[in-house]
Amino acid sequence: MKNCIFCKIVCKEIKADIVAETNNSIAFKDINPQAKFHILIIPKIHIKSTVDICQHNIHLLSDIILLSNQISKSTKIISNGYRWVFNTGKDGGQTVDHLHMHLIGGQPLNWSPA
Ligand code: 5GP
Ligand code: ZN
Repeated sequence: MKNCIFCKIVCKEIKADIVAETNNSIAFKDINPQAKFHILIIPKIHIKSTVDICQHNIHLLSDIILLSNQISKSTKIISNGYRWVFNTGKDGGQTVDHLHMHLIGGQPLNWSPA
């Protein structure tokens, strides 16, 4: 989609530190990491948020989760655990309107989301 930063990362119009990818998903380092390890995993097609997940595209969510597991199994720094985060909409703190899963870890994480 035009004017979407993450679509531009998918088509390599904007540079990103890509960690792994499948035919449907791409994982890259967050530009403003909140922990020692912080990557984003996104579908290659533009889906606005979790609200738009439906029976026609649910397989893309599976793909994201499987890619995350592939990464976490081969990344020592998150062998003690990690957190998956999906922020949705204004109240959910979503700042980029292209569905993304945060994979965060590499240190003990605090829990005070609200
Ligand atoms: P949200 O707040 O929408 O859940 O997460 C958006 C994330 O995208 C933020 O953690 C932010 O640091 C990251 N981000 C925003 N723009 C870019 C960019 O151009 N490149 C990369 N690698 N990450 C970005
Ligand atoms: Zn997009």
